[in-house]
Amino acid sequence: MDYFDIGSATYRETSDFIDSLEEPGFRAGQIYGWVHKRHAAGFDKMSDLPKELRKKLSERALFQGAGYCIKKEDNDGTIKYLLEFKNNIIINEEISVETVFMDYRHGGAVCVSTQAGCPMGCVFCVSGSGGFLRNLTAGEMLAQVYTVSRDRGKTITNVTLMGSGEPLLNLDNVLRFIEVINSEHGLNISQRRITLSTCGVTDKIYELLEKKLQITLAVSLHAPDDAVRKSLMPVAAAYPMDGLLKACKEYGDRTKRRVTFEYAMIEGINDAPKQARDLAEKLKHTLAHINLIPVNPGMGKDIRPSKAQVVEAFRDILAERGLAVTIRRSLGSGINAACGQLKHKIMYHNKEQSQ
Ligand code: SAH
Repeated sequence: MDYFDIGSATYRETSDFIDSLEEPGFRAGQIYGWVHKRHAAGFDKMSDLPKELRKKLSERALFQGAGYCIKKEDNDGTIKYLLEFKNNIIINEEISVETVFMDYRHGGAVCVSTQAGCPMGCVFCVSGSGGFLRNLTAGEMLAQVYTVSRDRGKTITNVTLMGSGEPLLNLDNVLRFIEVINSEHGLNISQRRITLSTCGVTDKIYELLEKKLQITLAVSLHAPDDAVRKSLMPVAAAYPMDGLLKACKEYGDRTKRRVTFEYAMIEGINDAPKQARDLAEKLKHTLAHINLIPVNPGMGKDIRPSKAQVVEAFRDILAERGLAVTIRRSLGSGINAACGQLKHKIMYHNKEQSQ
């Protein structure tokens, strides 16, 4: 039997489903509101629906919830969750992902994982170190936002698709996630407050462009040339930088939105002044914003963050050449909030304890 995945469905699809149950049309709005605005934890919490309907729903529809098994709070307001998905149909699937909440004055931002594990294998990143498990559904991505919003009692105003996984390799579900979260029937988060970060899957950037969205594209560059990039990111072998930067330029030109380039600074690998000059040269015609982030160590002794003065000197070279550049504090590093590190640490600890 196929279950209707209510957490992943658009408003239209939910209406059709309610019609198919021969229920009055207004129930669709009620149910959609419970899932996407009021973030109910299950069908049994939808208190203004008749009992019979709640029962019917629990038999025919999949409700995607999530609960956290671990929550760690940093003193900058960043909170990292290890979330486990729970739904009313499949009970034994052991998938957990990391989701991060960042506190803003008027709301909050959630950093969402798009895959459990990651297939990309960047050498500095912990998320991929355990391999790839599976794509997340749109409902599972939304459940991350809703669970965090419920836990914080805060309105979520910004979303970054920057947790574990490569969003462009799960594009259909990611687009569905964006459609629902952007919709007036859902949280109505404007596309301009949604950022999608990719390691640089060039053909998928063109596919995304065709969707004509207003979301911010972030690209993890981490090097000014293919040789260094390939040594850090296996994806660079399949998608050389020239082609990638051409796609980014086109994204900027067509959407009139600045592309963010992420650059994790690793001591002695990608932080030399010449590399800053090369990077500036490559990006000079692109509507770009460069984010320098001292790398979060965690993947072995060869990966050390660049010293603060080195990061500043690198920034100055880019800025002198007219590029928009900022140094990003590595948020939440005190709580292992960097990319897969919490999950990694917990799993590693559990393994150690069980030995
Ligand atoms: N797969 C996507 C999104 C997930 S990673 C991507 O590659 O962009 C989110 C960001 O964190 C990426 O820029 C990634 O390169 C960066 N990142 C991963 N591990 C890191 C680390 N140890 N230190 C700093 N940044 C890291």
